[in-house]
Amino acid sequence: KEAGLFEYVGEDYAKEHLRKRVYNGYKNIYGVDGLIVGSDQYTGAPLLATKAAYYTGAGIVKTITSEKVTSLLPLYIPEAIPVLRPQIFRYDDFDGYDALLVGCGLGLEERAFRAVIDIMTASICPLVIDADALTILSRNMHLLEKQDRSVILTPHIGEFKRLCHVEDYPDLMIAAQSFASQYHCILVLKGPHTIVTDGKSSYRIASGNKAMAVGGMGDTLAGIITSLLGQGYEALEAAILGVYIHGRAGDEVAKQAYTVIPEKLIEEIPHTMALLI
Ligand code: AMP
Ligand code: MG
Repeated sequence: KEAGLFEYVGEDYAKEHLRKRVYNGYKNIYGVDGLIVGSDQYTGAPLLATKAAYYTGAGIVKTITSEKVTSLLPLYIPEAIPVLRPQIFRYDDFDGYDALLVGCGLGLEERAFRAVIDIMTASICPLVIDADALTILSRNMHLLEKQDRSVILTPHIGEFKRLCHVEDYPDLMIAAQSFASQYHCILVLKGPHTIVTDGKSSYRIASGNKAMAVGGMGDTLAGIITSLLGQGYEALEAAILGVYIHGRAGDEVAKQAYTVIPEKLIEEIPHTMALLI
């Protein structure tokens, strides 16, 4: 396709792609997600990502995190399974997951760098990379070059500029497409009408609103996309559907609210998904 071209997607796409839950489904068919998120300094982001993953339909979510977050997590979301993050990961620490997420309050300390490098080199399942993990990645771009699995990056514009090592772009869509094609990844470039591209096909997502410009919103999206990935949606599909559901849940909340608090958006997700099947 010609550079710069894209398609707008919205409710029709979501209705076509979102799957019904099955009659005899057991929790493990809806995925085991591993979220490598949070730090003693940033405790809110991992809570939001975990809750968003469950509310989007994940079977099991294990939150691999700092000590402080492991004690806060069950109080915030009783379904959560906290796992204390090791100093150094071993290969078998990543066994048994259907999708992984790294970022969301991870911080930028030495051990966060170590964690990102371990995940990029020792895990093999589909992976979502967000927030601090993108900043860490921007200083280790070679890690992205030898990924033999689906990788979804979810930067906002500032994080994207850091990944590209540039100050500005003449055309954001073209920059997004060429990044995704160069690194064989799926890029979710967040903002109003978020861009999703795999470098071959590109989309803008027609949901979301200005009341969503608030801290924690990106962590919520990362949890939603990871949940869909763990449920077996293809990576491009998980990214598009995730962005649509996130924005649409935000639109539903905004019908009766001046601001959309991530917590309220998350609680709206199951209802929003029910509108789409
Ligand atoms: P982050 O900057 O990582 O917290 O991500 C912010 C999230 O909120 C992204 O999913 C954005 O698309 C969404 N968002 C923020 N501001 C707006 C806006 N003005 N209109 C629509 N979506 C927004
Ligand atoms: Mg963010």
